[in-house]
Amino acid sequence: TMQIFMPLNFLGFVYREIRGALANIENLFKLLDKAPAIEDRPDSAELQVTQGRIEFAQVSFSYRPDRPILNNLSFTVEPGQKVAVVGESGAGKSTLVKLLFRFYEVTEGQILIDNQDIRQVSQQSLRRAIGIVPQDTVLFNDSIFENVHYARPQASKEEVKTAIRHAHLDHFIASLPDGYDTLVGERGLKLSGGEKQRVAIARAILKRPPIMLFDEATSSLDSQSEGAILSALKEIARGHTSLVIAHRLSTVVDADKILVMAQGRIVEQGSHSQLLAQDGHYARLWQIQQQDKEKD
Ligand code: ADP
Ligand code: MG
Repeated sequence: TMQIFMPLNFLGFVYREIRGALANIENLFKLLDKAPAIEDRPDSAELQVTQGRIEFAQVSFSYRPDRPILNNLSFTVEPGQKVAVVGESGAGKSTLVKLLFRFYEVTEGQILIDNQDIRQVSQQSLRRAIGIVPQDTVLFNDSIFENVHYARPQASKEEVKTAIRHAHLDHFIASLPDGYDTLVGERGLKLSGGEKQRVAIARAILKRPPIMLFDEATSSLDSQSEGAILSALKEIARGHTSLVIAHRLSTVVDADKILVMAQGRIVEQGSHSQLLAQDGHYARLWQIQQQDKEKD
């Protein structure tokens, strides 16, 4: 029974801590992800985000010494750009996001934000600057309103409702028995994958950090929900630097740059039309997804 009750009690504890301390969801992901604790350097500075430029400089990484995952990766996301990462499952896409968030530290090379090595700054300041819409969103045992609100506890009721509207969550909430007060989470209403993702988007809109990371899970959504989510993502990304892991290529057509990953390497990069013209890896992925679409 210990094993069954521990996690729930523990989550409840973490939740109260989080609400009390104004910490954020990302710490919870860290716990759930069971990443080894990363320590701040004793002399760590606060990250100063001036423009929101991200640079991966010859980054290599492995979870275990005998199995390299990322291999000498270099790319930049210029301020305000949207850069997408595509590639088959297992290529290392989610690992990029985990490294940028410093759930893990690079084995070689550097990750820089506005020219500051993310290992030299406090994790708190790093995570304050980054919003993340993960593949799987954690909901707390609380009202759906509070589940969004805690992303920025100082926000007013109106601001929370605006974020909810921009995430296209308002119609769903209107259909619930107690509206905004409906309890969700383990002990409340269970939300679908798409609904949970919209909660994550609403949180991100409310937090409005200079850098946004998306690990899209739109493959589980029907095309109508996908369309709604896409427009919500556009809304958040406007004027922000964003890195989007895309499962459906339809979500990357408008990206400033697309990185195509295979086996821990960037094998191609360019805009959608440049990559189609190259007639390589990306062009093949695109063709496959177009054929799948015709079958639906
Ligand atoms: P993608 O998001 O492109 O599907 P991931 O970055 O999740 O790929 O995973 C890349 C590789 O790293 C996979 O082979 C996966 O099995 C491995 N991997 C992911 N997370 C861990 C972990 N926590 N420990 C060990 N290996 C992992
Ligand atoms: Mg992934």
